[in-house]
Amino acid sequence: MVEENANKVPGVRVGIDLRGKVALVTGSSSGLGMEIAKYLAKAGATVAIHYHSEKQQADQVAANIVGNGGKAVVFGGDVSNKSEVESIFNSIDEELGSIDILVNNAGIDGKRELCGDDNTEDWEKVIAINLMGPYYCAREAVKRMKKSGHGVIINITSVHEYLPWSGYTAYCSAKAGLSMFTKTLAQEVSDFGIRVVAVAPGAIKTPINKAVWGNPDTYKDLLEKIAMPRMGEPIDIAEAVTFLASDMASYITGTTLVVDGGMLLYPAFKHGG
Ligand code: NAD
Repeated sequence: MVEENANKVPGVRVGIDLRGKVALVTGSSSGLGMEIAKYLAKAGATVAIHYHSEKQQADQVAANIVGNGGKAVVFGGDVSNKSEVESIFNSIDEELGSIDILVNNAGIDGKRELCGDDNTEDWEKVIAINLMGPYYCAREAVKRMKKSGHGVIINITSVHEYLPWSGYTAYCSAKAGLSMFTKTLAQEVSDFGIRVVAVAPGAIKTPINKAVWGNPDTYKDLLEKIAMPRMGEPIDIAEAVTFLASDMASYITGTTLVVDGGMLLYPAFKHGG
């Protein structure tokens, strides 16, 4: 990573170096988490790959990292279950000795249901995974980072921390809540050398939204919602996360970096109106 990112200006060398750091990426058996894990490993971090139910996929991600000269260990558990989260962190303590970077990535968007016609269990599940999960993981990370005197927590929110999305009240509420959790926690831990930031992806091509990009009609409709003429790729998010995890972002805390190709720019106004 240092070599690849090396600035071409003679005498100047700029790069991201996460060697010696241990990073946990929740939900890294697929989609954004997988790409983030691979990218952090490329930058030199030892990565704790985490899965919920896709162990085989998680093992493949770890094998890919190890095959490329990196370090990765696989851990399983449900982020919405407090004791399972505690076990994950205890296992990381035993196997990797520390945690320097936590990426709260695991999440679901849930079923499309209108409030009043919805099932409260579905609502609770989205809140449990997308908001309680990052909280359970952050509290375990903070306990350890306070002792070591440093750390970075990166919460993957969404453009829906800002944008309402009919039929997804739980998802939008969880992501907006995670945004305020980011800011408040950043304030709480700033004296301990710990930074807390959020990354808000727009529409990125992963399994979570395959039903949309896999259908030509819904794909066309989606592209009209983005100012730039393309959907995002997982690497767009992985690069932003890796930057925020690094010392290049050492004065950034309590804020959200939006990575959305301009989805929040009211693209319908692009041609006037
Ligand atoms: P994905 O479905 O590929 O990944 C979601 C991951 O979360 C999976 O690895 C899954 O196993 C894990 N997970 C689900 N429930 C879990 C649980 N109870 N415990 C532990 N892990 C669990 O989708 P993705 O697009 O990679 O999503 C990753 C994150 O990015 C999510 O938080 C999502 O809300 C957010 N996001 C994605 C997009 C997008 O366009 N892809 C946009 C905005 C935000």
